Amino acid sequence: MKKLLLIATGGTIASDHGTTGLTPMLDAGALLKHVPKISEMYQVDAVQPVNLDSTNMRPCDWLTIAGSIRKYYSAYDGFVVAHGTDTMAYTASALSYLIQLSPKPIVLTGAQKSIVTEDTDARINLYDAFAYAADPGSHGVSIVFDGRVITGTRARKVRTKSRNAFESVDFPNLAMVRDGRIFRYIPMARPEGPFFSDAIDASVASVKLTPGIGANVFTALRMSLNALVVESFGVGGVPNSDGGALVEEIKKWREENKIVAVTTQVPYEGSDMGVYEVGRRVLDECGVLESYTMTPETAVVKLMWILGKTRDYDEIKRLFYTPVANDLLMHTGYYE
Ligand code: ASP
Repeated sequence: MKKLLLIATGGTIASDHGTTGLTPMLDAGALLKHVPKISEMYQVDAVQPVNLDSTNMRPCDWLTIAGSIRKYYSAYDGFVVAHGTDTMAYTASALSYLIQLSPKPIVLTGAQKSIVTEDTDARINLYDAFAYAADPGSHGVSIVFDGRVITGTRARKVRTKSRNAFESVDFPNLAMVRDGRIFRYIPMARPEGPFFSDAIDASVASVKLTPGIGANVFTALRMSLNALVVESFGVGGVPNSDGGALVEEIKKWREENKIVAVTTQVPYEGSDMGVYEVGRRVLDECGVLESYTMTPETAVVKLMWILGKTRDYDEIKRLFYTPVANDLLMHTGYYE
């Protein structure tokens, strides 16, 4: 019998109506009571390192969750992390950097409706997540939701209410789970890890460009951040219709050994900043990094992980452009 650890962290899946709205109330044991067959099929233990609406999940909580997995890594065959959907993509990315090349599956799941409701998706998502975590062909960090298995660095929440809340962005689903069976689209070789990291620099955030945004917004952010991910327009560029004030401001980040990375607010297909002058100029003149096919969520978390290791610009650049867990799709000729 497979030995699996449930790491419950809160979210809608574990919520009930409090006096002021839905809030996480059920602990890990209560969750398991709603899916009794799971404890018949597998040997399951449960821990509850945090109990949060994932709106409140912070980078330090990612370290706590990763710490639980590290602590129990040798004792279990796989891990299921029950998590709120709102920031699940960030946590999945974080675990993908903090625990690399894991031969044992680390599977995040959650629900759009609480497990205590009649029409919940929580039970099927938990059954699917456990089935995937128990399968010998499963490795690494993934999200199992609505029957889809999505690699941890490529997931995005794309629907606020429907069951198919998550999509895999610019990358195929790894597998589908139907009636407890795993149908793999991408067979995986057993990786040679795990390799754990335990540091993160949380002073990274993102800003979404809007037409006419002022350089002063970036100046204010520079005071408190070590890195900024700019969600720019289209294939990527920085406006210069303000007489170049924003471009000059971005140069200051580099002068202060701070990082600006550019991604796109367009959901699919990533950046290609060399195409337009508004993009190529900041790449050439300001030392910005380009996210290419990384999702904005992943770019933010990757910089947190990298800055937890080093503040050396060349090393930051090297690590940012080194693919981890399929976060960045290589394309011949991109980085010449
Ligand atoms: N606000 C909830 C959370 O992310 C939403 C959910 O779990 O679906 O914790």
